[in-house]
Amino acid sequence: MCRGVGRGRRVNTLGIPVTPPGDEPGLSGLYAELAGALTVLDDQQCLASFSLPYPPAVQLLYDRVVLRCIEQQRTPPASLPDLVQWSRESRAGEEPFAVPASTISPDARLVHPLGRVPTRACLELASADRGGLAAGEAHALLGMVKERCVSESSFRKCRDFLISTPVLSGREPLSRKRRWDDRLWRRVADLYVPVPEFLRRYDVLALCATCELPALLPRDGDFERMEWCESETCRTDRPPLLLRDPGEVMLLRRCLRVFLVLPGRVERSARQALHAAGIPVRSRPDRPGTYELVDSDGTDRVLRSYDRLQPALLARTVREECSDAPECAVVVVPQQCLAQPDFEAAFAAPFPGPSRPALVTPNGLAAEMRPPPHEQKENNA
Ligand SMILES: [Zn+2]
Repeated sequence: MCRGVGRGRRVNTLGIPVTPPGDEPGLSGLYAELAGALTVLDDQQCLASFSLPYPPAVQLLYDRVVLRCIEQQRTPPASLPDLVQWSRESRAGEEPFAVPASTISPDARLVHPLGRVPTRACLELASADRGGLAAGEAHALLGMVKERCVSESSFRKCRDFLISTPVLSGREPLSRKRRWDDRLWRRVADLYVPVPEFLRRYDVLALCATCELPALLPRDGDFERMEWCESETCRTDRPPLLLRDPGEVMLLRRCLRVFLVLPGRVERSARQALHAAGIPVRSRPDRPGTYELVDSDGTDRVLRSYDRLQPALLARTVREECSDAPECAVVVVPQQCLAQPDFEAAFAAPFPGPSRPALVTPNGLAAEMRPPPHEQKENNA
C-alpha cells in the first residue's frame, strides 16, 4: 500500500522528507495511496467504527499526510479519524493534493459524505495501480471460484449467480422461487458476509429500488426515500425495499458488488442486445466477461463491459486489459456513464486517435457492430 514511499525522496531544511512536485499526483502519489489505505481500512474494520490500534501502514500514511499539510502550511488532520472525516469533506481537486482532472474528477471524494464508506471513485483509484485492492481482489476471488469448478459451464453458472445475487436472504435457500443448487452454493458461500452494523439503520436493511444494492434510510425516519445507495448514481426519492431481519441476510462482498455485479449487469444487457440483433458472440473461457465478435467488415473485435464512475481510470483499465489491440476493443458502459458531462472525452484523452476503443452503451452496441445502411453502401462501393 505504501509502495513508492522512498521514491524520489528529498528533505526540507528541517530534514523532513518532502515529495518532489513531479512525483505528484499520479497514481503512485499520496492521494492514490490514501485511497488504498481507506479501502483496506474499511475492508478490515469498517470506516464508521474503526479503532486502535490502526494498521501500521495506515498510521505511516497518516504521518505523511500530516507532513504534506505542514509543507503547505495547512492545519493537518489531528488524528486518523480526523483524516477520514477530512476525506468525507474535501475533494480531489482541492489542496493539499490538487489531483489533476486527467486522473480523477476534481469533485470526487474518497469517503462518501452520507454513506461513510469509501466511494466508488476511491475504490477505482485504489484499484488502478494496485493489483491486490478492490478490483484486483474481486478478480482473485473469481479465480478462486473458478478453481473450485469442474467445468467451464459450472463456473459460468457460479459467476451468473453472483452477478444476479448481491443480496441473499437467509430464507432464500428454501425458497421455491429459485431452484437451489447445493453444489453451486458450496463454491460461492464464503464470498458472502453478514450485513455490517452501519447498514442496519432502524434495524432494517434498505435496498435501493433501482440498483437493488444496499442503501441507507434518512436519519429522520422517512422510509419513503433513501439518502444513499451503493451505486451512488440512483434517484434517492424512490422508496427503498426493506428487509426487516438483517441478521438473516448475507451480502456478497463489496468488491464483488462493485466490480462484478455492476459491470455484470451491463454485460448481460450487451449480450441481450447482440442476441436481439442477431449478432453472434463468443465468450473467452480464459477471460470471464470478455467476448469475441466479428465486425461487419470482418475485423475481430473484443468486447468488455464496465460500470465505472471515473472515465480516466476506466481508460487506464481498458488499456491494460485490451492491450493487444485497443483499437479493436468495444467498451460497453451503462447509459448513466455516457450521460455524465465530459465522460466520453476524458475516456478518450489517453488514447492516441487510431488506437481508441469504441465506447458504447448496450443500446448502441448493434449500431457499432453494424454501421448504418448508407455507410455500408459506401464501404461496399
Ligand atoms: Zn441504487
